[in-house]
Amino acid sequence: MAPIGEPTLAQQRRSARIVLKRLTTLYPEIATALDYRDPWQLIVATVLSAQTTDENVNKVTPVLFETWPHAEDLAAANPDEVEKVVFSTGFYRQKTRSILALAGDVVERFGGKVPHDLDAMVTLKGVGRKTASVVLAEAWGDPAIAVDTHVKRVSNRLGLTTNTDPTRIESDLKNLYLKDTWAGVSMRFIQFGRDYCDARKPRCWVCPLRDRCPYKPKTPRPQADR
Ligand code: SF4
Repeated sequence: MAPIGEPTLAQQRRSARIVLKRLTTLYPEIATALDYRDPWQLIVATVLSAQTTDENVNKVTPVLFETWPHAEDLAAANPDEVEKVVFSTGFYRQKTRSILALAGDVVERFGGKVPHDLDAMVTLKGVGRKTASVVLAEAWGDPAIAVDTHVKRVSNRLGLTTNTDPTRIESDLKNLYLKDTWAGVSMRFIQFGRDYCDARKPRCWVCPLRDRCPYKPKTPRPQADR
């Protein structure tokens, strides 16, 4: 039983589901903005998306996948050539090392195919729970929730978790939402975080979740907007 004054789990679930319902109305169709054709391309694009925009990644991946279409090709690629292609995504040396190591790992241990399994995917070089969950939810539509910085911030502000550790946040969200909705949670939270619940200046005055949000202080409407 919840302590007196605290919402029960049933109330928390109801509230969390209202949040997701509104976000689904706001973003009826949502998917990663990364371009990809299969799980392999998505996992590589997700690794390249660290510290840059999806738009920047989409500018380099067509050349990358045309030159080295399969994991086997990338595993055997000349790193200098790959660096030139991914240069504009930033941290190009590190990213080149990561995707080449990932390609080698996928080829050696999984016959060139990204394993369709979270526990196996997180054993791949450079792949964490967040990347693996993105690939599972987006490429396969599996029930998975990826927790990035936006999901972490939005979930905390909306009172859906009090945790800061991504794995715990993922577990809290999975406890609040029905399994068949998990795949649609992350991308909606991410887009909402970008559009409304900014890290530094949340746009509380126009926020469609304002009445569900315990976060204080709410940002007032700027003078210029009045
Ligand atoms: S009211 Fe403000 S802090 Fe709360 S969810 Fe909306 S934008 Fe974020």
